Order: sequence, then C-alpha cells, then structure tokens
Amino acid sequence: MRRTVFNEDHEAFRQTLRDFIETEVVPRYDQWFVDGQVPRDFYKQLAELGLFGIEVPEEYGGAGIDSFKFAAVQTEETMRAGVSFGAAGAHVALGLPYLLELGTEEQKRRWLPDFVSGDTMYALAMTEPGTGSDLAGMSTTARLSDDGSHYVLNGAKTFITGGVLADRVIVCARTSPPKPDDRRYGITLLNVDTTLPGYSVGRKLDKLGLRTSDTGELAFADVKVPVEDRLGEEDKGFYYLGMNLPKERLSIAYGAYAQAAAAVRFATQYVRDRKVFGQAVASFQNTKFELAACQAEVDAAQAVADRALEALDAGELTAAEAASAKLFCTEVAHRVIDRCLQLHGGYGFINEYPIARLYADNRVNRIYGGTSEVMKMIIAKDMGL
Ligand SMILES: Cc1cc2nc3c(=O)[nH]c(=O)nc-3n(C[C@H](O)[C@H](O)[C@H](O)COP(=O)(O)OP(=O)(O)OC[C@H]3O[C@@H](n4cnc5c(N)ncnc54)[C@H](O)[C@@H]3O)c2cc1C
Repeated sequence: MRRTVFNEDHEAFRQTLRDFIETEVVPRYDQWFVDGQVPRDFYKQLAELGLFGIEVPEEYGGAGIDSFKFAAVQTEETMRAGVSFGAAGAHVALGLPYLLELGTEEQKRRWLPDFVSGDTMYALAMTEPGTGSDLAGMSTTARLSDDGSHYVLNGAKTFITGGVLADRVIVCARTSPPKPDDRRYGITLLNVDTTLPGYSVGRKLDKLGLRTSDTGELAFADVKVPVEDRLGEEDKGFYYLGMNLPKERLSIAYGAYAQAAAAVRFATQYVRDRKVFGQAVASFQNTKFELAACQAEVDAAQAVADRALEALDAGELTAAEAASAKLFCTEVAHRVIDRCLQLHGGYGFINEYPIARLYADNRVNRIYGGTSEVMKMIIAKDMGL
C-alpha cells in the first residue's frame, strides 16, 4: 500500500539523515553504548543539522514548520540503523512544546535561540521516587517567596531522561495543596536553570536499555527559581501536561512501530546469511511464517502510527486516540522484536547484534510516557466505562 504521510521534502530530509547516521553515528555508536551516553558535542552536531529548530518559529532561529513529521522521519531512520541520538528526543519532544505553547514573548526570546543551537539542553521532570503513574500525588514543592520574586523549590525527581547533562529542566512542583474535588489542582511548571545553588544531580541510572541516553535522579534543596522562569499560570501545570501528553505518546508509538520494522529488517537479513543443517535459516517454513506474521503486524502498526501522526499535525489527536496508538504499537513491537530475536538464535542475545539492543530498548515503551495499564484506563474512560 502506498504511504501518503510523507512528501518529497520529508524524503529529502530522510536521505540527509541516513547519510549523517552512516558517517557520524554508526562508527561511534559502540563507544557511546559503552560510555552510557552520547558526548555533549554530538548534540551540537544535531543542532547544526537543524534538528532542534524544525518546529521553532523563524524569529527565534528555527525553521517554523508546524509538523511532527520530520521528527517521525528521524525516528524511523535512527531505528532503521539500530542507533539512537541519546536524549535529543527528550529535548525536542518533551521540552520544546512547553516553551512554545506556554512561553511569553520575553521567555521565547530568552530561551529558544539557545534551545535551537543546542547550547541549552532540556529535560522534563515529572516523576518522583514516590509517584509515577499517579502524578497528582507528587510532593516536590515550590513556595513563592514573601516578596514574590522567586519560588523556593524543594524535593526530588527520578528517571529523568537527559537529566544528567541538561542545562535546564522543566520541573513540575506543587505550589498549592490539591482541592478536595480536584487532586490535580496546584501543580506549576518551572523552567529551572541547573546551575542554581541547591540543584543537584544524583545517580545516572544504570538501565536495561536505552543505554546512550542519560537518565538521572535530581534533587532540589531550597533552589531559588526566579518567578520570570515560571511557565504558564500557577497551579495549572497538570492541565498543561495533559495538553502535551498525546504528542509524547504518539512519539513513543512511532518509535515502537519503527523498532518493530527495524527488527523485521535485521532478522530478514540475518536468516538469509545464517546456515543451519546445511541450509539458510530463511529456507525453513517456520522462519518464513514467523517473518510474514511479523511483517503483517508491522504493517498494521505503521497504519495506526501514520494515522495518529496525521491527526496530531491536524491538531485533532485526542488523549484516548494517542493512548490507543501507544498501547497498540508498543504491544506489537514487544511481540515482533521477541520473535525476530528468536530467529537470531544465541546471537540475538549478544549486544553486538542490533536486535539485542532493540529488544532491551523496546521494553520501556510499555512503561514510560504512561504504562500500558494507564493507557487502558484512558481508553476505557473514553469508552464511558
Ligand atoms: C528509561 C526511563 C525514562 C523515563 N523518562 C522520564 C522523563 O524524562 N521524565 C519523567 O518525568 N519521567 C520519566 N520516566 C518515568 C516514567 O514515566 C514512569 O516510570 C512511568 O510513568 C511509571 O511510573 P512508575 O515507574 O512510578 O510506576 P508505578 O506508577 O509505581 O506503577 C507500577 C505498576 O502499577 C501499575 N499501575 C499503576 N496505577 C495503576 C492502576 N490505577 N491500575 C492498574 N495498574 C496500575 C503500573 O501500570 C505498573 O505496572 C522514565 C522512566 C524510564 C524507565
């Protein structure tokens, strides 16, 4: 079936990216995997390629393209090559929407040029040691000073993608207690400069997968955040988070579908080359059936991901539709990658082979951005259940 989601511009961008990944990423990737993060200068390279400014208006140094499709192409190409761009995805998909949608004119002028140039890298901190799925239960606090000039931030966050290297972190904190009839009330978003006194980075977490992105713990002890660095209105943070979560979930759905497609590609190549009992693994009927079944699942996931992408660009993707796309694509990827790994035999368990890294990287897709169980809760609520 012909895909209609991408045009000539997207395909030209795809080719540029493919060349860049081949020359700049693939040769260095094994070292980054061992180091547990990409080097900071790599983010500057991505910035020079224009990847951080695609959706940023031209007056702040970006390309001003109001579309997520270029990011989707980027996802397909990194997965296809079995690599990742570290925490660059968090910078753009998690950080940028809040700057664009909530930033005042003064804040945009102050923050966006450095966002685009990669001089300031962003992360988003919602999750805490005591609360993940139930975000309304967060206990990090931000108290407005008596003179109203700054917030005093106290608390801790964990699992923050890009949190170790970030220059600024959008921190969600309680500025007011919840209301009896609205637990979500009272959360505020602060754009926190990570060099402020009292701000500290804890452990860089040792993860099962996604080894080239730094995921860290953060702690705040009386951090004085200027009131000019608040994003949006006080106490409305939960509402703002809800506005961007469909996009975040679509990006995870897209990544999962692209990982599943890459797994089929890796396995198809592998079974042609590998000889067992004197014949190629590809020649066994079981192999053909397994890969055919996987391809059918990938086709379905691609259709769902593409449709959700169109809906997002049109401003129509609902929370329940995004949850449905994430649930479906991540569950497909889980099944497909496992079956494709099986076709690699023991080599599928060795990190040298991209299928092994895919297997590990994919696991978190059913957890972060909201677990599969939380996605089902959202869908069921939308069904009136
Ligand atoms: C690699 C990685 C990167 C991450 N990056 C970020 C980031 O950049 N920023 C950020 O803020 N967070 C980030 N997270 C956190 C992530 O979003 C949370 O881990 C996720 O939302 C789940 O929260 P939790 O880990 O506290 O699990 P819990 O909420 O403790 O859930 C435990 C289990 O209980 C289930 N459960 C919860 N509620 C219900 C219910 N009502 N009914 C049935 N089952 C339920 C869950 O589905 C899960 O199976 C990241 C996590 C990881 C692992």
